[in-house]
Amino acid sequence: MNPALIKLTKYLRLEADRGYDNRAVVGGLQHMLDPWEAEARGTGLPEKIIEIVLAHLKDYPHLTPHSRQETLKDLWSSLGTELPNLSLPETPELKEKAELKDRTPSILAATEAQPIGEPTGIEAQIPLSRPPSTHLPQPETIREPKSDQLTEPEEPPAALEAPLTTIAGIGPKSAKTLHKLNLETLGDLLWHLPRRYDDYSQLKTINRLWYGEEVTIIGTVEDVQIRTVRSGRMKLIEAVISDGTGALRVTWFNQAWIADRLHPGRPIVLSGKVDQYLGRLTMNNPEWEALERKQLHTNRIVPVYPLTSGVTSKWLRRVIHSVVTRLAPRIPDPLPKSVMESADLLPLNIALQQIHFPDDWEHLRLAQHRLAFNEMFLLQLGVLRQKSEWGQLSSPPLTIDDTRITRFTESLPYQLTNSQLSAFKDVREDLAAPHPMNRLLQGDVGSGKTVIAATVIGIAAANNAQSAVMTPTSILAEQHYQTMLDLLPPATDIPAEAIQLLIGATPEAEKQAIREGLANGQIQVVLGTHALLEDPITFANLGLVVIDEQHRFGVEQRAVLRNKGENPNLLVMTATPIPRSLALTIYGDLDITVIDEMPPGRIPIETRVLLPIERSRAHNFIIGQLENGHQAFIIYPLVEGSEKVQAKAAVDEYQRLQENIFVGYKVGLLHGRMRPDEKENTMASFRSGEYDVLVSTSVLEVGVDIPNATVMLIEGANRFGLAQLHQFRGRVGRGEHKSYCLLIPDSEDEADNQRLSAIESTNDGFELAELDLNQRGPGDFLGTRQSGFAELRTARLTDIRLIEKARREAVHLFKADPMLAQPEHALLSREMARFWTTAKGEIS
Ligand code: ADP
Ligand code: MG
Repeated sequence: MNPALIKLTKYLRLEADRGYDNRAVVGGLQHMLDPWEAEARGTGLPEKIIEIVLAHLKDYPHLTPHSRQETLKDLWSSLGTELPNLSLPETPELKEKAELKDRTPSILAATEAQPIGEPTGIEAQIPLSRPPSTHLPQPETIREPKSDQLTEPEEPPAALEAPLTTIAGIGPKSAKTLHKLNLETLGDLLWHLPRRYDDYSQLKTINRLWYGEEVTIIGTVEDVQIRTVRSGRMKLIEAVISDGTGALRVTWFNQAWIADRLHPGRPIVLSGKVDQYLGRLTMNNPEWEALERKQLHTNRIVPVYPLTSGVTSKWLRRVIHSVVTRLAPRIPDPLPKSVMESADLLPLNIALQQIHFPDDWEHLRLAQHRLAFNEMFLLQLGVLRQKSEWGQLSSPPLTIDDTRITRFTESLPYQLTNSQLSAFKDVREDLAAPHPMNRLLQGDVGSGKTVIAATVIGIAAANNAQSAVMTPTSILAEQHYQTMLDLLPPATDIPAEAIQLLIGATPEAEKQAIREGLANGQIQVVLGTHALLEDPITFANLGLVVIDEQHRFGVEQRAVLRNKGENPNLLVMTATPIPRSLALTIYGDLDITVIDEMPPGRIPIETRVLLPIERSRAHNFIIGQLENGHQAFIIYPLVEGSEKVQAKAAVDEYQRLQENIFVGYKVGLLHGRMRPDEKENTMASFRSGEYDVLVSTSVLEVGVDIPNATVMLIEGANRFGLAQLHQFRGRVGRGEHKSYCLLIPDSEDEADNQRLSAIESTNDGFELAELDLNQRGPGDFLGTRQSGFAELRTARLTDIRLIEKARREAVHLFKADPMLAQPEHALLSREMARFWTTAKGEIS
């Protein structure tokens, strides 16, 4: 008998057994009609029969059980007339309950029950703990969940900890391969989330295929050939697949084994992209499988997992599917009911199933939302806990009287801005409290954060506490060292020799002296790079840690420095402008001060977007500036490919510019493949005026002040994020000369780029950051070193609404039960411990 008919009778028999509740097929019978139709055609079922079936079943979901029964009866009798040999299933009478409930005429019921063709909302489609389904349902997916899955599991199943080899089909060898993906246990597999999804749920007949689309088709193998090409080095498998509407030629490369499996006459499912060869449609290397097997890889939204060599996506999918089917339903939900309800979330076990094998895009979205919420929620709870723990630490109050403050401010060559004054007020209060300060000072490039650091250092010194300032690069450390020498000795009691610089390049003897001075307390202020973290360095009384450009440091590094004192005060500074809600998440354990005002008298940087054909004008403009004794940066565009490729391209460009354009001037080069000391040297030479022009890839260091540089030319500007462009631009306009930022996009079309016009029209980093966040995500301006956040698997830091929602819930729960001591929070408490060990404890 025709396989499509066999399948149909099977479902309908089950449907009858269930009392016509339209649940024999997950999502309802309507979900199988499309695939069924294709299969029926593909397997040569006569058109007339197909039409009869479709006509009968088209409105099935909208009928009452009673009418459904009638419909099926009628369907069988019609089919019986057409196919006298068909063995017809029984259409048993309705079970009593259903019968009593529905005696309404079908038309009325249809209009009353639900709008035709509309699903009844997401909830209705997601019965609790439903196993992942496929569109061509299989026996194991059409049963109701077992009753033990309906009750909430209380404990995570022990199987989560079981090694991979407990899965049939995974031996020590496969397990070893999977270790490369950091997969050790079944639980790891369960949490090995897809990297993306391919939508193969769009079944199509061959006559309706379009070039370029991703589709799934069902057909029969007509013919299989193996051809050897390229002098025997490559094997081509060519098959012809037909589905009654047409035939399609399909090709696989170097997979000779496929030929053994594709017997003519065999029905198969193919998914992939429709290609074209010599004017005819084809498919190359499609995913495929025999029709009778469970449709895991095809005919649905297919998860695509991160892979490693030795693992095929098909195999991994199958393995994960078996784990998800077995374990996901047994995963208890760590979120308390109250949170689940007020945040309106999918249960975790369903979210886990749906994130791997989504029924459709909407389920996927809900699942992602749920898992992302989880992470954000745990993150925020942790941040709140951290903050409250820090609030309980004590440290000696550091105070200062007003006369000393006045002495300091009056010695400055400028007046503090209102923003700086209020930042100063914040930190002064922090220091005077009997708890350590934990403050983030956020302010755009050039807003004047360093002087605030100097005031804090001054207060610490007045209380006999030492200060350590850590910067990501030596050149910044030197710059700060110079600033502190300028600001502190004239206005405080700190003598110049009590201020020292410690960087990698500091000679060993000098380092030794500094170590001694720090250990015996003679040195009051030390500025340096991560060299400060080195073990032998100890402090007599470290009372203040200042971290500049904090996003460039790892969490551990900050913690190491802080642990060199006893609850020292912490001031972290960043020029990364981030919207407040995001700041509350990322720096939620810190108090935040924003400097939102620029020192007066800055000549605004003039920003212009140029067309590529205007490049020589830009070069001439730069030459004009060089003639006036100024300097210029040229940022080389982001190049696809490795750092090596990028470096090579930059070297070529640098040579071209030196030899053909800036003849008679000195051009320097900075790129990511240079050693740190080479980079530092180049920057130092540029600052000292040895180079007139500096060609740099995107590695150009943050925070460096080169007042004499007046032009920033950015090539391939459309490839950079706004925040990054803004940071580059911040490298100029730091002196008293009018400065310019020139942006040259890749093509004329790109010059119309919205983002580029945004940066042309505003100098406000916050405004740009917000735009950037909406458009590209936070990756660019957060840097890659936010280790706590590298652990986020599903949550996007761009999803401000999710962040706010999670924060609201977290604050609420934290107020009610800060230690998660109540019994209903036990699971959550364990989950917190797990999350925060992976996320490395603290985040700032
Ligand atoms: P950033 O916030 O980027 O670290 P800096 O602290 O390096 O900025 O300050 C940038 C420049 O602005 C420095 O040259 C500094 O001397 C100057 N500056 C800071 N505050 C003021 C002010 N209130 N008025 C004038 N110039 C200031
Ligand atoms: Mg700075």
